[in-house]
Amino acid sequence: MAPGHPDSLWAATATPAAAYAPLQGAERADVCVVGGGLTGLSAALHAAEGGASVVLLEAGQVGSGASGRNGGQVIPGLKLDPRELEAAFGAERGARLTELVGGAADFVFDLVRRHRIACDARQDGWLKACHSPAALRAAALTARDWSGRGAPVEEIDRVRIAELTGTGAYHGGFVDHRGGVVQPLSYTRGLARAAQQAGVRLHERSPAETPRREGGEWVVSTPSGSVRADRVIIGTNGYTDLAGARGPWPGLARTVIPVYSYIAATRPLSDDLRQSILPKGQAVSDSRRLLRYFRLDAGGRMVMGGRGAMRESADRADYASIIGSALELYPALRAREWEFVWGGRVAVTLDHLPHLHEPVPGVHAGLGYNGRGVAMATVMGKVLADRVLGRGAPVFPESALRPVPLHRWRRPFFEVIVAWKRALDRLEGISRRP
Ligand SMILES: Cc1cc2nc3c(=O)[nH]c(=O)nc-3n(C[C@H](O)[C@H](O)[C@H](O)COP(=O)(O)OP(=O)(O)OC[C@H]3O[C@@H](n4cnc5c(N)ncnc54)[C@H](O)[C@@H]3O)c2cc1C
Repeated sequence: MAPGHPDSLWAATATPAAAYAPLQGAERADVCVVGGGLTGLSAALHAAEGGASVVLLEAGQVGSGASGRNGGQVIPGLKLDPRELEAAFGAERGARLTELVGGAADFVFDLVRRHRIACDARQDGWLKACHSPAALRAAALTARDWSGRGAPVEEIDRVRIAELTGTGAYHGGFVDHRGGVVQPLSYTRGLARAAQQAGVRLHERSPAETPRREGGEWVVSTPSGSVRADRVIIGTNGYTDLAGARGPWPGLARTVIPVYSYIAATRPLSDDLRQSILPKGQAVSDSRRLLRYFRLDAGGRMVMGGRGAMRESADRADYASIIGSALELYPALRAREWEFVWGGRVAVTLDHLPHLHEPVPGVHAGLGYNGRGVAMATVMGKVLADRVLGRGAPVFPESALRPVPLHRWRRPFFEVIVAWKRALDRLEGISRRP
C-alpha cells in the first residue's frame, strides 16, 4: 500500500500541499521518474532544467515516503570518510566523489535559496557527539580527514560539546559547519513546486509498474494510465517493495534493507529550556551503534529520533526508548508532553554507500542512503538527471544489482542485530559517562 502522511510534526507544520492529479490516460516524455521523494523530485527538477520533458509518478503523495518524515538534518558526506572513499574507488575518483558528497549540504541550501523554498532552512552546523572514548578517536579521524581537505569541520572537546548540546553525556566530537536543518516536508514540497514550475508533470496516487520495452521506448503503466519515455529514473529507496512483484524494477527492492527510524517531538519548549538545550540550534547525531539524532524545530520543540521496530507504528509504547533516551540526556524534558510520534523507512546497504544502478540501458536507479538522504538523495537526483541528459563525466560509481543475502529473513535477523547493538551501547555509553 502506498504511504500516506503520518500524523507527524512535519505534516502539522509544513507549507500547504499542492494537489497533483493521478495519471489519466497516455502521456509521452523524454524522462519518466518513479518516486516523489527527494531523489525523484531532484532528478525531475534537474532533468527539466536541462531541457528534458519529464513526467513524475508517485504512488502516495509528494513526500509521503521518508522525505517528508525524516529528522531534517542536512548532513554532508557519507558514512565512509574521504580516505575510505579514496581507498575504495582510487585516488582520483575517490577525490571527486569526496568533493561531490562533501558539497551535498551546500547543494541543498543553494537549491532552497535559488527556488525560494520556505522550509525553515538553517545552515548552522551539524554536531557529531561521541558517547565513548573509542567513538571520539574515530570522530577525530573523520574531522581531520575533512579539515585536512579544507572543509570547515572542527574538533570539539567535552567542555565545548557540553556547551553546545546542554548535556554532559558526551566525550567530545566535531562540528561540521556545512550541515544544518530544514523542515523536511516543506523542503520536499518546495522541490515539487520548483519541479512543476520547471515544466515537470507530477502525478500523485499513481503507483508505477515495472517499465516494459515497446517500440524502442519504455512504457511505465499505472492503474489509470501510462507514460512512454526514452529513459526512466527510479527513486523509491526504502519503499521500493510497495508494489510487490510489479514494483519499479525486478530485484531492486532486495538490494537494500528497509529499516524503520522513529521520531518523537515535544510541545514547544520554554525559551529558557530551549536556550539550555542546543543554544546554537545545531542538529546532533551521536555515535552510538543505534544512533540517536536530535534537534529543535522552528517552533522550539525537541525532535528526537532513533532506531525503531521493524514496522510502521503510531503506538506510543513503541517510542518509549526514543523518549527515554531524550530524558536521559535532558532530564528537564521529563515534564514535557510528547505531542507527536511517527516513523518511516530508511534503506540500508551492506557497504554503507548509496547505490546507483542502470540494470538495463535507459533505466536508472539511485537508493540506499543509510539514513543520510536529505542532502545525498538531493544530490543523487542531480547525478541521475545528468546521467540521462548525458552531461558531465560520471563521478558517482555505478554498481550491479546485488541482492542482500538472506533478504527474506531480514526482519528477524535485524531484530537480533538491533538488540545486540542496543546492549553494547548501553554497556559502553552509560557506564563511561564523563
Ligand atoms: C524517520 C526518519 C528520519 C530520517 N532522518 C534523516 C535526517 O535527519 N537526515 C538525513 O539526511 N536523512 C534522514 N533520513 C533518511 C532520508 O529521509 C532518506 O534517505 C531520503 O528521504 C530518501 O529520499 P528518496 O526520495 O530516495 O526516498 P523516499 O522519500 O522514501 O521516497 C520514495 C517514494 O517512492 C514512492 N514509490 C515507491 N514505489 C513506487 C512506485 N512503484 N510507483 C510510484 N512511486 C513509488 C514512495 O511512495 C515514496 O514516496 C531519515 C529517514 C527516516 C525515515
